Amino acid sequence: MTNDHTDSYSALLRGAHRFHETEYEGDRTLMARLSKGQEPDVLIIACSDSRVDPALIFGVRPGDIFVVRVVANLVPPRRPGDATAYAVMAAVEYGVKALGVSHLVVCGHSHCGGIKAAMDTARGQEPPPFECLGPWVTLAGGACREVLAEDSETKRTDAEMATAAEQRSVLKSVANLRSYAWIQERVERGDLTLHGWWFDIDTGELWTAGAETGSFSIVA
Ligand SMILES: [Zn+2]
Repeated sequence: MTNDHTDSYSALLRGAHRFHETEYEGDRTLMARLSKGQEPDVLIIACSDSRVDPALIFGVRPGDIFVVRVVANLVPPRRPGDATAYAVMAAVEYGVKALGVSHLVVCGHSHCGGIKAAMDTARGQEPPPFECLGPWVTLAGGACREVLAEDSETKRTDAEMATAAEQRSVLKSVANLRSYAWIQERVERGDLTLHGWWFDIDTGELWTAGAETGSFSIVA
């Protein structure tokens, strides 16, 4: 282990100590209440990427958001008997059915390594040489192939293509959420709203997809 890693690890332990001091020995109201249960109203599916921690980006407190973090914030389509989806959907199911969240967000981001790997594979390169990661990112293959197919008309730069694939993949994941009847039913009843977001690491701006158009625009 290098010194840098040791320092990072030590910083976590200092962070835990600081959290204990400020949240448990100071004004304990919030954590005392949360020790009795959680009632988050928003569930966010975000990437595992270290730069896009939803709690930090959106400035929330413990108990505010129920979070699923998975490479490239991918939601697999519903295929009965296929356990691939369970790691993501078990948490979503608990958030929706047991916690009764009102908002379900898929949040992508710029410079997503998972989507880049899916794009490279869609361009004909070998999948990433990882036992689990390679097959996982192929879930974004459809979105990437669509963006590549449009390339002859749009003439976008590689960076623009990456953004397009990241945003298209978010919309696919939102659509895949709807393939679960217990989600679609709640959406139709007006009890649950689905959202597609994309966070720009370069500028810090959040983009959201319009419910009707599916195109992304910056949150004012
Ligand atoms: Zn990512």
